[in-house]
Amino acid sequence: MTVMDEIDAIFLKRGHDAYGESISVTEHSLQAAHFAKEAAASPALIVAALLHDVGHLIDHVPRDIADWTRDAQHERLGSLWLSRRFPPEVFEPVRLHVSAKRYLLATDPAYFTQLCSSSDVTLKLQGGPMTADEVAAFETEAFHEDAVRLRRWDDAGKVAGLETCGFGDYRALIKQWVMR
Ligand code: FE
Repeated sequence: MTVMDEIDAIFLKRGHDAYGESISVTEHSLQAAHFAKEAAASPALIVAALLHDVGHLIDHVPRDIADWTRDAQHERLGSLWLSRRFPPEVFEPVRLHVSAKRYLLATDPAYFTQLCSSSDVTLKLQGGPMTADEVAAFETEAFHEDAVRLRRWDDAGKVAGLETCGFGDYRALIKQWVMR
């Protein structure tokens, strides 16, 4: 089974799960990749955006994200899965994309205001804004800027009915970055 086959199987099996109220995980993933492409992100970062929530799909978490009562730590699971198949340019931004939310809460006042006015059920579970020490440590991560960009596309990727490319349009890009 190739990595592409594995990815196809994972999204076929669970990709139609709800991501929030009005879109599926597949649609959310395609939207994150769409925004990455629009922002002229590197090919590796577009792949990271497309696959950033793979941890949700390989873990046995409740099928509707609104049902979550605990932090599923999907970024850890997802980046671990990706690290066996892709180089750090792909899996590191994914590993850091949840921390990036806490980083933005601490460093971007507009982000803080915007997020706190939405009812974000996962925010509390993920720990609120970073402390100054955590911010400094986060900034030593080689891929922290990519993770912050990915975070913003992740946040933006919740638009009901947005037209995007299909999964098939990313096959060549994924194959280009697979390690085996
Ligand atoms: Fe996401």
